[in-house]
Amino acid sequence: TAKAAGGGRYRFFAREMMDRAVARLHNETALRRAIEENQFVLYYQPKLETLTRKLSGVEALLRWQKPDRLVMPGDFIPLAEETGLIVPIGAWVLRTACEQAARWLAAGHAVPVSVNVSARQLQEAGLVDLVADCLAKSYLPPELLNIEITETSMMRDLDHSEALLARLRDLGVGISVDDFGTGYSSLAYLRRLPVTALKLDRSFVNDIPAETAIATAVLDLSRSFGLKTVAEGVETEEQWHWLAQQGCAEVQGFLFARPMPVDLVERDFLQG
Ligand code: C2E
Ligand code: MG
Ligand code: MG
Ligand code: MG
Repeated sequence: TAKAAGGGRYRFFAREMMDRAVARLHNETALRRAIEENQFVLYYQPKLETLTRKLSGVEALLRWQKPDRLVMPGDFIPLAEETGLIVPIGAWVLRTACEQAARWLAAGHAVPVSVNVSARQLQEAGLVDLVADCLAKSYLPPELLNIEITETSMMRDLDHSEALLARLRDLGVGISVDDFGTGYSSLAYLRRLPVTALKLDRSFVNDIPAETAIATAVLDLSRSFGLKTVAEGVETEEQWHWLAQQGCAEVQGFLFARPMPVDLVERDFLQG
């Protein structure tokens, strides 16, 4: 009967919801354990000066090294954000990246390191103190640390972002707007935010040279605000040459280098 079928459907959905809740709890527990068991590792993706191809810095990108496989951030950062676990994980990222950059500096290589900070971390009252503490404990000069915040999370609470970014700038660290062009920034607000660089989102770099309207607009905007532009996701020579012609300061992408473990950065980029 219809009633029986309805009941079956109800049980089916209830069951599915249960399964989902159980899976989520399972994943959350695994993520929590990953922190305790030090299963996180930072890969570093080089950024280069567009014209010279010289190393201009590296971006720290988080990986979860499970015993049997490497898990990419897209597969665990969303849950880490929802559960708030991104706060302790993000603190580990900041500390580890500062220590690494300080080690490189001690070895004679001044390599600026960029760290991604998510929306959830911006809401945390202790973020500025944490950054200050990481710099102090590692003895890393603040100019060698750069914080990347996506346009979308920066614009979520503008008054808060403005105050927070000002305090970060007071520490002397750089601030980049990540994935720029994908969000919904008001130009007036962008002007008010004390950022130092815009990262042209990969999706627009991908459109070069067929469709360049947004890339051109972002480069012009960045220039008129006195900001540095970094193009992310550069995969072809054609894109690189176009960006060079347009005066984009830095490039990052698989054409030049993938995110890689520390020893490969040292072997391929820090010799001599
Ligand atoms: P993102 O900060 O925009 O990082 C760029 C992503 O693009 C990285 O993916 C990088 O591997 C990838 N990529 C770089 N060049 C190319 C290219 O030429 N082609 C293509 N197809 N992809 C390229 P990944 O490492 O998977 O990271 C994804 C996102 O996860 C990052 O986007 C960032 O939003 C987030 N993330 C990574 N590490 C952290 C972290 O430590 N903390 C936080 N809060 N978020 C992180
Ligand atoms: Mg980034
Ligand atoms: Mg990005
Ligand atoms: Mg991106």
